[in-house]
Amino acid sequence: MSNKDTKYAMWPAIVHAKCPRCRRGNMFSTPMYSFHSQKMNTACPHCGLVFEREPGYFYVAMFVSYALFVAEMVTLAVAISVLTGSHNPWVYVSIIVAVGVILSPFNFRYSRVLLLHWLTPGLHYHPEMSKDVVS
Ligand SMILES: [Zn+2]
Repeated sequence: MSNKDTKYAMWPAIVHAKCPRCRRGNMFSTPMYSFHSQKMNTACPHCGLVFEREPGYFYVAMFVSYALFVAEMVTLAVAISVLTGSHNPWVYVSIIVAVGVILSPFNFRYSRVLLLHWLTPGLHYHPEMSKDVVS
């Protein structure tokens, strides 16, 4: 794939946690699941966009993370009910807590990705920033 005049699609950029402006640079410098905590790049390694728009900007990601978590857990609770038919609350609590812990790195990462891609006013994809040489 040529890098010149190539438009980078939105969904792959979101799935792979790419910069919202150029869709090429990685937002995170560490993998989602590892024994070390996730580290976010301060600025996009490709176009230089500073991800933390203002001090404390990622506090907003907590609300996105909360919405993600609620959506996942409601879906999970319905799935448990349909699949097991159980009325024992401990079945729900234990599965929801376990899955919640497993999904927390996912929520941490994608709350920030969705915040920057969809919920930040004035931050849009600039195809000219995707080029190999940014002048
Ligand atoms: Zn970028």
